[in-house]
Amino acid sequence: MVDKVQVLPYFFGNITREDAEEYLRQGGAGDGLYLLRQSRSFLGGYALSVAYGRQFYHYTIEREMNDTYAIAGGRSHRTPIDVIDYHSQESDGLVCLLKRPFNRPRGTEPKVGPFEDLREQLIRQYVKQTWNLQGSALEQAIISQRPQLEKLIATTAHEKMPWFHGKIEREDSEQRLLRSSHVNGKFLIRQRESNGRNVSYALCLLHNNQVMHYRIDKDRAGKLSIPDGKKFDTLWQLVEHYSYKPDGLLRVLTETCPKPSHNSEQGATGGILSRIKSYSFPKPGQKKSTENPYNIRSNIRGELPNPNLLNTDALPMDTREFESPYADPEELRSTTVKRSDLTLEDGELGSGNFGTVMRGVYQMKKTQKIVAVKILKNDDNNAAVKDEMLREASVMQQLDNPYIVRMIGICEAENLMLVMELAELGPLHKFLQKNRHISMKNITELVHQVSMGMKYLEEHNFVHRDLAARNVLLVTQHYAKISDFGLSKALTEEQNYYKTKGPGKWPVKWYAPECMNYFKFSSKSDVWSFGVLMWEAYSYGQKPYKGMKGNEVIQMIERGERMSAPADCPPEMYDLMMKCWTYKQEERPGFSVVEPRLRHYYYDISQ
Ligand code: ATP
Repeated sequence: MVDKVQVLPYFFGNITREDAEEYLRQGGAGDGLYLLRQSRSFLGGYALSVAYGRQFYHYTIEREMNDTYAIAGGRSHRTPIDVIDYHSQESDGLVCLLKRPFNRPRGTEPKVGPFEDLREQLIRQYVKQTWNLQGSALEQAIISQRPQLEKLIATTAHEKMPWFHGKIEREDSEQRLLRSSHVNGKFLIRQRESNGRNVSYALCLLHNNQVMHYRIDKDRAGKLSIPDGKKFDTLWQLVEHYSYKPDGLLRVLTETCPKPSHNSEQGATGGILSRIKSYSFPKPGQKKSTENPYNIRSNIRGELPNPNLLNTDALPMDTREFESPYADPEELRSTTVKRSDLTLEDGELGSGNFGTVMRGVYQMKKTQKIVAVKILKNDDNNAAVKDEMLREASVMQQLDNPYIVRMIGICEAENLMLVMELAELGPLHKFLQKNRHISMKNITELVHQVSMGMKYLEEHNFVHRDLAARNVLLVTQHYAKISDFGLSKALTEEQNYYKTKGPGKWPVKWYAPECMNYFKFSSKSDVWSFGVLMWEAYSYGQKPYKGMKGNEVIQMIERGERMSAPADCPPEMYDLMMKCWTYKQEERPGFSVVEPRLRHYYYDISQ
């Protein structure tokens, strides 16, 4: 959404209401002349400024819970542009119809807000310090979770601002403000006693050597405001607003009262920039704990996770399956697992041709890891099956990506066992069949993660050859990993495809035409399978080409026909599936194209 609005000629970005009025004046301020700007109070919100009768009117276009947009109390629309289109036809509460947009003067770009400027830097610092990630794990975390990280930062950023003094007594705040300089407008924010979830704050402001205390309350929707004042999503927006306008306070905020531990050189406010630059986010208070029964890392504040949040709010980085088990070279030195270090638990996670998959605990040097163990059944001691499992292990051993199930090692004991990372929630298609309430956004998040794992495989010259929703396993509702490398192959530098001698017991419905016709497999044929996987995901785990036999599917593809879109599938995503089903592999996009398309669509719907 942000991208579409950014390019509107009448979108001015993060300008103040006064600036908007000045622009409308420049445009003649005729009745119905309007412009759009970014809301300075609400995250993801906009403001519409309209001229009428030589006066100016400003309406907030809020982003609602279900990702729709509306002028407070008005009708909901899919986008802010739809809100404007609607009010060009119907005044419906507005002072007049929107008649003519006022476009940015030539050479004027939408104004970038102070926070946007630093967003990238903050996100990096936040991920590094909160989850202790670096290198490619850091990059992968940022790419896959950017919308969530932006929200997290926006709502917790105040905690490290020099003006935020945490939970201190009223008297303490007065002492701090009256220490050293007595500049009018010097301020701090403290947290007041909270009763349960109802956190409230106080803005303490120095005025003529007296400290004024303004209560900041959070309403039911989580909006912050001083009594009868303007509402804000975050404390930093509130500070930003009152730094340029008193708006009910005795005066504007001028100088930050530094926390005792902060050096006072950041005294002057100078916009949010100067305040935010000295950021240092807290390290997790509590490191990974083996007693943590949920297999989720402690959250940023170091509290144990709430079990109810297990499958809903946890970010991939909160789980122990995000960080590579190879990250600590002291822990996993070899790929051989000693039987005495492995305890198998009761109950199967699943089963396949080779045998069963069980949950287990692997005792490492410093910690224990909950794992999945694929156990080869050795009733008939079939050497070919054993070879197949060892081949799968040797492929997995070479892969290390957060969106791929990583191998821990091989254990040769009463049976041959492949020890892997655990993806507790099991295969994607079954999960979606049982959880029809999962949103399209959530499905897109998961499908995007699969595309990230596949992009990694493509870059490392591996073909999966069995990509399907059944082989995508979920760690949480928001974290998917690609599994089952039984058919996978490493390609040589010279050859970018793998050729089999003839057809085999193949998942035909997931295979591209060149696999069926020429037995040729490449990352491009994985892209075809990925299209089918997307179809499965957006149809909540339905069987593709339902009721059709393999050869009927081949004929249908040869005729140029494709599956129709699943009900409620976003058109952008069906369009991408169709691209994945491009007949000629030379014309089919690779994962280097598919992944960014999914990424941008996902960011777009998450704004
Ligand atoms: P094959 O195609 O070799 O017969 P399969 O596809 O039937 O194998 P797998 O996907 O390897 O078998 O595993 C079977 C089931 O075991 C999966 O569908 C899943 O439910 C469970 N499983 C496998 N690996 C894991 C894992 N790492 N974490 C959690 N569950 C797993």
